Amino acid sequence: MRTATGWAMARHKGITFAMLAEPGHGRTPAAELALFLVVPAAAAAHGVAYSRGRTGTARALAIASLVGSPGCRPPDAPCGGGSPRRCHPTPTGQEALVQSVIIIGGGISGLTAAWHLRSRAEVTVVESGPQPGGILRSGTVAGVPVDDGAEAMLALRPEAVDLAEAAGLGGDLVTPARAPVTMWTRGTLRAMPTGHVMGIPTDLAALRDTGLLSPDGLARLAREEELPAAPLEGDISVGAYLADRLGREVVDRLVEPLLGGIYAGRADRISLRAALPGVADIAARGGSLLDALRSGARGRTGAPPAVMKGLRGGLARLPRTLADSCGARVLTRTRARELHRTPTGWRVVLSGPAPHALEADAVVLAAPAYAIAPLLRPHAPVAARELNAIEHASMALVTLAFERAQLPGVPRGNGFLVPPVEGKAVKAATFLTNKWHWLAEAAPGTFILRASVGRLGEESLLGREDGELAAVCLGELSDILGPLGRPVDFHVARWARGLPQYSVGHLDAVRTVRDAVAALPGLEVCGAAYEGVGVAACVAGARDAALRIVERGER
Ligand SMILES: Cc1cc2nc3c(=O)[nH]c(=O)nc-3n(C[C@H](O)[C@H](O)[C@H](O)COP(=O)(O)OP(=O)(O)OC[C@H]3O[C@@H](n4cnc5c(N)ncnc54)[C@H](O)[C@@H]3O)c2cc1C
Repeated sequence: MRTATGWAMARHKGITFAMLAEPGHGRTPAAELALFLVVPAAAAAHGVAYSRGRTGTARALAIASLVGSPGCRPPDAPCGGGSPRRCHPTPTGQEALVQSVIIIGGGISGLTAAWHLRSRAEVTVVESGPQPGGILRSGTVAGVPVDDGAEAMLALRPEAVDLAEAAGLGGDLVTPARAPVTMWTRGTLRAMPTGHVMGIPTDLAALRDTGLLSPDGLARLAREEELPAAPLEGDISVGAYLADRLGREVVDRLVEPLLGGIYAGRADRISLRAALPGVADIAARGGSLLDALRSGARGRTGAPPAVMKGLRGGLARLPRTLADSCGARVLTRTRARELHRTPTGWRVVLSGPAPHALEADAVVLAAPAYAIAPLLRPHAPVAARELNAIEHASMALVTLAFERAQLPGVPRGNGFLVPPVEGKAVKAATFLTNKWHWLAEAAPGTFILRASVGRLGEESLLGREDGELAAVCLGELSDILGPLGRPVDFHVARWARGLPQYSVGHLDAVRTVRDAVAALPGLEVCGAAYEGVGVAACVAGARDAALRIVERGER
């Protein structure tokens, strides 16, 4: 450091400034330091014009935020473990008060939050599993990568697709092959007619032709418009509301299998307000549900937009890419055990290869509800109780690979759903090499399907060993599709407590949790337990949590 009339380094609110100290400015107050901020080489390197002079503090700070300072990493450079605090100016040129953030849970929610905090804070992601990604994880079958968990993200809302594009994966976004939703029900495979809303049919004539419902079920459904329909108050289960309006068969054979595909849960437990908010709004207004759904559909023309998107190589590439590029330190095999307040933020006690504790200005709780409830209990006991009360369904995905040449015929379509009333273990089958062209190209001689087993309350089925579970699936699939022969490979992925259940009253519970957490400065929650279990909803919730942290830090 040169003094008096030369270069000096000074720190102001954690930002290191290179300063040209002039006579009379040896003990310059912070604003004055900024005024004389000179980082000429760095400014030039970043294409920022700068001329020294009394041009104002704001301008000097803006330049500092653009070019960084000697103690500050470039926006996308990784944070080294154990490095000292660094400057994290915000896009407005203001210095962020939140400089360090710990994110608990390295699933898509935690990594999305890390991505949105990149270059705004020093971020550490704490993940108890062996790799980041959570339910977005891949495995290998017959030598090709397959998603072991989520395989597609909703494209009707933009957040997840936008994130993939921002992370540089836009060129690898893929659309699944178009095929009708198909049910194995009443003894055969039957395609759902178009125009249904989560299994609720709107075209009764088309439905009749499919044979999905019995004549009695169809007759009951057709009476819906004559039934009295007072406005519904409060929440109710999807099953109770729809059975009352449309008859039990619609619930059992059309709605339940679709809901089961999303929540692995039971229509009689799942909240109408949380799972089907559009239908809940109709119910709250009163009147015929079918009539309201039909008028909602009127005026829509042309082919429906692609509902889902995947990624060439598998959706698990998304969290991997985020982890690699978000600049956060990611600690795997490390579990958050305790959360304590400090005078300036939070302290997280960890267990893992090297048990220790970390401190930060802010913490994002992005692990499942049952994992964060004990962390929150000392600070927000009511919220912790609500989170602990959320049930979770366990499930397993059994992926089977067959040599195409050995199959009597390759099944058509993208797969099928099985209503629980059919009494099968398999609740859905996805023909992966039909659905995803990239996978068919990667494994040209192979037909790969995955069977999904496990609904809420079916844990005993999941207690079976991998080989046994695969044999159960193979047996049922052969009954449905015809003999499949011996698979050349199989792979079982288990997801214990993988899907939170949005039971009746879920939205009130979420509000309680959110209100309690909002009263705790520097704390945020996000993840599948709150406003949607799908990848897109998790991405949206995590982005919002990260932005709240930045906003609160700027205030
Ligand atoms: C089998 C399956 C298939 C699915 N398919 C789809 C699909 O195709 N499309 C779709 O949109 N949605 C799908 N979903 C839902 C969606 O994938 C998940 O809801 C979403 O990925 C959840 O992300 P998350 O980050 O909130 O939670 P998670 O992925 O569960 O991540 C949370 C992470 O926290 C870690 N953790 C837990 N406790 C601690 C602790 N104490 N300390 C540190 N870390 C901890 C866990 O190890 C985990 O990695 C599927 C779900 C399942 C189970």
